[in-house]
Amino acid sequence: MRNKSKLLAFILLVALSFASMAIEITTPSGKKLSLESREEDGTAWVCLDALAKALGATAGRDPLSRYPSLVLGSHRVLFSTATAMTSVDGKLIDTKHPARDKNGCVWIPREFLAAGLPLLLNGAVSLSGEGVAPPAPAPPRAAGQASENGGIGLDVAVASDVVRLTLEGAMTTAAQVRKEGSAIVVQLPRGRVSAQGRDLGSGIAARLDVGNDGRMLRIELGEGFKSFETLDLRNPERLVILLKGGGQVTPSVPPEPPAAQGGEAEPQAGRPSKAANQFLVVIDPGHGGGDTGAIGKGGLQEKDVALAISQKLAAVLEKSGVTTLLTRSTDIYVPLAQRTAIANYNRADVFISIHLNASPASSAKGSETYFMSREATDLWSRQVAEKENAAPPGIEGGSTLTMVLWNLAQTQYIVESQALAASIQGRLNQLLGTQERGVRQAPFVVLEGAQMPAVLVEVAFLSNPGEASQINDPAFQDQVTEQIAKSILEFKAQNGSQTPPNPS
Ligand SMILES: [Zn+2]
Repeated sequence: MRNKSKLLAFILLVALSFASMAIEITTPSGKKLSLESREEDGTAWVCLDALAKALGATAGRDPLSRYPSLVLGSHRVLFSTATAMTSVDGKLIDTKHPARDKNGCVWIPREFLAAGLPLLLNGAVSLSGEGVAPPAPAPPRAAGQASENGGIGLDVAVASDVVRLTLEGAMTTAAQVRKEGSAIVVQLPRGRVSAQGRDLGSGIAARLDVGNDGRMLRIELGEGFKSFETLDLRNPERLVILLKGGGQVTPSVPPEPPAAQGGEAEPQAGRPSKAANQFLVVIDPGHGGGDTGAIGKGGLQEKDVALAISQKLAAVLEKSGVTTLLTRSTDIYVPLAQRTAIANYNRADVFISIHLNASPASSAKGSETYFMSREATDLWSRQVAEKENAAPPGIEGGSTLTMVLWNLAQTQYIVESQALAASIQGRLNQLLGTQERGVRQAPFVVLEGAQMPAVLVEVAFLSNPGEASQINDPAFQDQVTEQIAKSILEFKAQNGSQTPPNPS
């Protein structure tokens, strides 16, 4: 009896250790792959090189971010050893554990196999020990809302001091817009909106509801609401409703689930979806309110110049058919994380933060264009980032934990961000006649959470008396914004008409 139970225990031990030695993966085509694995901290781990070999994929390092990567066909995965988030084709998935770089291997947790492989292999995957469901359908990135049969298109944009609704379609400029108690009510004379109600955040406006079979919109106002105005636009006919005030906080947007392979899906709950052909540039005028930014000769404040340049840039881009949104259009303080949240919530295609530089050396001059990285290009770049990241006195800075998590979000767009930065820098160098200041990288808080190509431009040095008076001249600001706009339009032409990948 004693021997029997010893034997049973031994068999059990052998069985258990075998179970922990390999994970069997059944691919969507029914092929079985067996991978050696190790148990640690309550999960199984496989070596990235072995995983790549089994899948016929390539393991390596992303050339720019240096994150461990796995490339299979058109799919690209970036693992992080700092966070439990893994990027599959630019979308983040939670794999519960960060990857581990040790003993000559990058170790990947079983959770990635469960959540990530179905995306890489375009179908349901099962792992030994459990069945794995195919990925849930995810929202299309750009869901058009105007229907062809006389429907009214609705575009909603939410920034820190404005909530903007744009209704597009016949007779929209004849709509009635009135304030009723704590709400703005929009009554359409004809046609209807097929959009769903949604959360708008808090501050100026809290919620948008669509009623009366799509013929009425009701916007529940918040305590930050001050006034509203409407604009009638033609070609195409549009009614723009601007709700103004201050301190709007957009709903926080979690990283989107990975893109589904084909199929129709609901837009992510509560988040605006924009027209398929819309290219949205979110322009972020640095600083604002009590945070003046750099101060130049004669008391010229960075926050004011940045806002003036941003407004001009918006106007130039709008003329070229690009939709823009300013994170702030007034002199108010907007936390750095909120600026990026505005870009993410509104599904911007490009995020550009506008700043003016300062140096103890009054001779320093020229533009600098930055894109995000964990490491600064040099000591100067690090100092610029530290200055821009600093929270004004009495205001709490960003959370480091969030910073690490979101760092990965921007990493996905690092190639695009670098290209846009280089293009802007080239044009501004020519305009300002400077060659020595190149594209730089530094850990900017305002860039790192951006789920789109994102750059930060230090347009000129306010600390240089000559450059300060030049950049304060509206005619020169026009020249600057024209050059930046050219780069953005070129970038749009290269990247704006991306179609979602077809299921293979
Ligand atoms: Zn600044």
